[in-house]
Amino acid sequence: MRSAALWACGCVVLALAGSGCGGGGSGGGTGGTGPSATPGGVAPATPWRWVTADFHVHTEHSGDGYDSVAQTKDMARYAGLDVVALSDHDTLTQTTDPDFGSTATLTVLPAVEWTTRMHAGVVGASFLPPDELAQAGPPADWPAIVQDVIDRVHATGGAFIANHPADNRFPWVFDVRDVDAVEIWNSFWTVSDVGGKPSSPASIDDRMRSSGLTAAGIAPSAAIVAAAAAAGGGNDQALAYWEALLDRGERIAAVGSSDRHRWILPGYPCTWLRVRDNTPAEVIAALRAGRTLITASPHGPWVEFEADADGDGVFEAGIGDTVAAGSSVTLRVRVRGAARGLVRIVRRRATVHERRLSSGDVTFTLPVTLRPGDWVRLDVFEPVDGSLPAAAVVQSALGLLATPDIVAAFRAVGSVPPVIANAELYEMPRRYLPLFNVDVPGGLNFGRAAITSPIYAER
Ligand SMILES: [Zn+2]
Ligand SMILES: [Zn+2]
Repeated sequence: MRSAALWACGCVVLALAGSGCGGGGSGGGTGGTGPSATPGGVAPATPWRWVTADFHVHTEHSGDGYDSVAQTKDMARYAGLDVVALSDHDTLTQTTDPDFGSTATLTVLPAVEWTTRMHAGVVGASFLPPDELAQAGPPADWPAIVQDVIDRVHATGGAFIANHPADNRFPWVFDVRDVDAVEIWNSFWTVSDVGGKPSSPASIDDRMRSSGLTAAGIAPSAAIVAAAAAAGGGNDQALAYWEALLDRGERIAAVGSSDRHRWILPGYPCTWLRVRDNTPAEVIAALRAGRTLITASPHGPWVEFEADADGDGVFEAGIGDTVAAGSSVTLRVRVRGAARGLVRIVRRRATVHERRLSSGDVTFTLPVTLRPGDWVRLDVFEPVDGSLPAAAVVQSALGLLATPDIVAAFRAVGSVPPVIANAELYEMPRRYLPLFNVDVPGGLNFGRAAITSPIYAER
């Protein structure tokens, strides 16, 4: 059935490409200028750099995927990715494909999208989790079964991502420990808002009862209950879920993934990783350490976010790092490539600073006080260009004005990249990305452009 797979896994299914550049780890973010500290007398560490990744991409090895391993790798590189995880549903057969494997310019990671009552990205996978929780044990045992998988993933050098956690078909209804990342940005934000399937407090309650969890005495996750009450689509709720976990003291990376099955390129959105090299072990270590930020595509905007906690003028802490609490910390923000956009500094879910970006390269500092357990991160938005000739067509196709028809929107503005012959594949022009990433509850004038993982204060 090669006809209707856009939403196949409950995850959206898209991805485009940009104008060719990308990759290469230029730009991207904080700490990009060097390691934080080198103990005296020790040889300098390899400098930090940023690489682009998509941890959630399907191939023909998924029942609802379309393109071969070789084609998917070609698309990933064309899109500007340095790292791609081929995360097929409940299988590792893609890893025995003759074309599987890294190249000089693309790190290819084995992965599985564990597709059960909830969906999880197992990156660096070396085993398959139990196919279906209901077959693995009674509902009372499900949290322990999932926990066992997470622990085993870590023991075997992998990372565990809660995928589209608020999708009402696969909500993460109970709590587990040590999840490394939450996929807070799945596909295009606008698609999530107008065509997604968000949860509600009632749907979570219904899921708990109908699956037998309530009768088994399992409590619903307070984080998902809170998220399900949030306005917007699945990404807004995933963001709320993640922030609720951060608020209770967990350290969890933000990840953005295309969840591509067909039509679009991988890397929309993409996850940037602060690394010293792009080996699989280093990539997974960066993911687990929260050294991540998300941009709408591999082509920016470029975001830097650092902290000086000891007042010496050196911004020694970057995304994923921890600074001392209780004193004034100076944050430094730089955003390139989002002229006329907005940047917000968010501390524990509250915006503590918002600024219009007067040019395409803005740097500023801000003193803040961080209490124990605080976390602070950035949101970046780009303005929607309402003068685009096809903007009204796209708005209509995306359902801002009428019935959603995502593929019609791609056809309206997308160009056909020369990556795969005879494939229906669309590349999203950069200037349309804000429109495709409008966060509807926040208004139609700005699209989401970047979200960072936090800098943390000591607890
Ligand atoms: Zn999924
Ligand atoms: Zn998926």
